Amino acid sequence: MLYSVARPHGFLVKKALIVIGILALAGFIALAWSFSGAVLPYQPLQSSELPIASPPAGMTLSAITTGSMGSKALFAFRGGGFGDTRDFTMTAFLVHHPKGDLLIDTGFGRDLDEHAKTMPWLMRQLASYKKGTAVGDQLASHDYPMSQLAGVILTHAHWDHVSGLDSLPGVKVWVSQAEKTFIDSRASMTELINRLPNINYREYAFNGPPYLGFSSSYDVWGDGSVVLVPAPGHTPGSIIAFVNLPTGARYAFLGDLVWQNEGIDLPAEKPWLSRRLVGENDDEVRDNIARMAAIHKRFPDMHMIPAHDARAAASIPQYPAVAH
Ligand SMILES: [Zn+2]
Repeated sequence: MLYSVARPHGFLVKKALIVIGILALAGFIALAWSFSGAVLPYQPLQSSELPIASPPAGMTLSAITTGSMGSKALFAFRGGGFGDTRDFTMTAFLVHHPKGDLLIDTGFGRDLDEHAKTMPWLMRQLASYKKGTAVGDQLASHDYPMSQLAGVILTHAHWDHVSGLDSLPGVKVWVSQAEKTFIDSRASMTELINRLPNINYREYAFNGPPYLGFSSSYDVWGDGSVVLVPAPGHTPGSIIAFVNLPTGARYAFLGDLVWQNEGIDLPAEKPWLSRRLVGENDDEVRDNIARMAAIHKRFPDMHMIPAHDARAAASIPQYPAVAH
């Protein structure tokens, strides 16, 4: 009696274990595949001319690197290697303009150890950070006149782009309407900016014409030198900032649309795990990568600057040195 009852029970357990094993193996294979190389398709750019820009003489651009995070190319773009360790630099970019200077993002701040605790748990396990000097303190050490700073343009409101606001008290923080709505939703990825006291927001709208394949634009100083376009997906209100210098040098500050240059060069999206960790909208990100890849193909001299690519950051002189 005992024997006849125990046998089917053991049989079912064994069968269940086999099913669980097959599912686990399938899950592992699917996860491994999600990191494999996959080139995104894109359409050639329709416009053959660069938009007109009349940047004033004396306008300059500098990089202010505030620290970095060590991580693997594997997590940055599909096809990236596990053995390919990279410094993901945290950089604020200073655009000096006679009408008012602008910082694009802020990098790491003074209270970095506290700020880093707002990172998703898994990301904290996968990355380590190196602390530098906060942007406000670097500016102060060169006697930068803070009254000249018209504001910080955030490519988006994630913690590693806003942390340095703690060294820039009172400075205006320019955000797209969609990103302000995202901040006000108090989504977990906006925890740090919502925790920072007395943020002086300045919302703007994209009331300008289409720009290089983007549906609309916002020309900050009205001279085509700093033009912002909506590039949602990484966050709902992410933007790209086009900066055009008097020498004709052109830059596109991509925020976190891609984390490394290969994202545009190949082009390739982030692997599935990274996209889920930060809660991206995959279709929107793919559309915007395709737009930037088309621009890169048509105008290869335009510098593509992902916020965290050390090579891209190194292509811009470190403050107080400047590019003209
Ligand atoms: Zn981000």
